Amino acid sequence: MSLRLFCGVLCGALLTGGPAQAAEPAKSAILFENVRIFDGKGSSLSAPSSVLVEGNLISRISQGPIQVEGEVQRIDGQGKTLMPGLIDAHTHLMFATLPQIALLTNDITFATVAATRAANDMLMRGFTSARDLGGPVFGLKKGIDMGIIQGPRIWPAGAMISQSGGHGDFRLPNELPALAGQYSFGERTNAAMIADSPDAVRQRTREQLALGATQIKLMAGGGVASSYDPIDVTQYTVPEIRAAVEAADNWGTYVTVHAYTPKAVRQAIEAGVKCIDHGQMLDEATARLMAEKGVWWSLQPFTDDRKSPFPEGSANRLKQLEMYKGTDQAFALARQYGIKTAFGTDALFSAEAAASQGTMLARMGTWYTPAEVLKMATHDNAELLALSGPRNPYPGRLGVVEAGALADLLLVRGDPLQDLALVADPANNFQLIMKDGKIYKNSL
Ligand SMILES: [Zn+2]
Repeated sequence: MSLRLFCGVLCGALLTGGPAQAAEPAKSAILFENVRIFDGKGSSLSAPSSVLVEGNLISRISQGPIQVEGEVQRIDGQGKTLMPGLIDAHTHLMFATLPQIALLTNDITFATVAATRAANDMLMRGFTSARDLGGPVFGLKKGIDMGIIQGPRIWPAGAMISQSGGHGDFRLPNELPALAGQYSFGERTNAAMIADSPDAVRQRTREQLALGATQIKLMAGGGVASSYDPIDVTQYTVPEIRAAVEAADNWGTYVTVHAYTPKAVRQAIEAGVKCIDHGQMLDEATARLMAEKGVWWSLQPFTDDRKSPFPEGSANRLKQLEMYKGTDQAFALARQYGIKTAFGTDALFSAEAAASQGTMLARMGTWYTPAEVLKMATHDNAELLALSGPRNPYPGRLGVVEAGALADLLLVRGDPLQDLALVADPANNFQLIMKDGKIYKNSL
């Protein structure tokens, strides 16, 4: 066997996580009895029901008893609520909990260690899936999927792709101008790639797809946490964004962009992106355009309700306050025009912010009914994840409690359709957490 062929076989095995198992073990069976179901779509709970999970799938749901042959683990649901696992449409697991300065000045393994903890904590908050929109998260995802560590299912974007001076440019001023052929720390660690022409964007996009990106994340306008770009600026040009869209489309998937302003969003839509992340500063005409084009709006309930990681009076803080002003109107427009809307938290650089994931979900009750909020964080977000098409790493239905769907389930003390605040305290109220048919928490 030639070295190259040997490497081909070996690397293939490494990429997929090892050779296939020879014998399939018997499927586990777990039967939930006396649960009331929120199915991810409806606005009321079911009558007391039984739900059978076999292997990693929900196999049967019945309001009568379910007979199971062979061994089964019975769980008395005590009339509590069984609902789909939650989905966060905008995370950065690698950057969620450490301060920005720690991420920029430490070895990347420090970020990985923190992210390992962050992933476990996210699962323990009932979030069983996450669309990760920027950061070197492929190893973390692989570790979770192989069962080495615990965490949510991850749809990784890999490195954020940014223009020079854009929202993904975290180089120091004394590193500019960039020297040809030299990569910055952010690029060497595949956290954020700088690309300044259609060809460069295309190459960086293809690299992320090669590494396993399920969607591509481009920085299309000014941001809060970056230092070079005022929040009003537009980033990239239509040909640059289109290069990424074409490369992603050829790979069977799509591009989402970070953008706040009408101009940035309009340019991205013209280039063919299928999802806008943020958009807090949009106007009515642009919202109408999004509705017409069927573009997803991944919105975060950004409000000034806790200590900012940015010092008062700093440029970042002023940008943050400017952006917060638009949050109410953004949700109003999303509702008014019936835009496909996703819920995400975008926790960055703060363990406190990451821990408030459930609080942020509960805050969505400011703009939506509890049933609408819970549908968005389950069924609707799953629909957004499905935009990855053949690049979806976890084929199957998510975000619903239905026969045949993947068994990502929460057992909730009380009825969150009546009392949305229950989701803000997952430690006490999510008494059982299941992902892929496996129980990760059971405090019944
Ligand atoms: Zn983000």
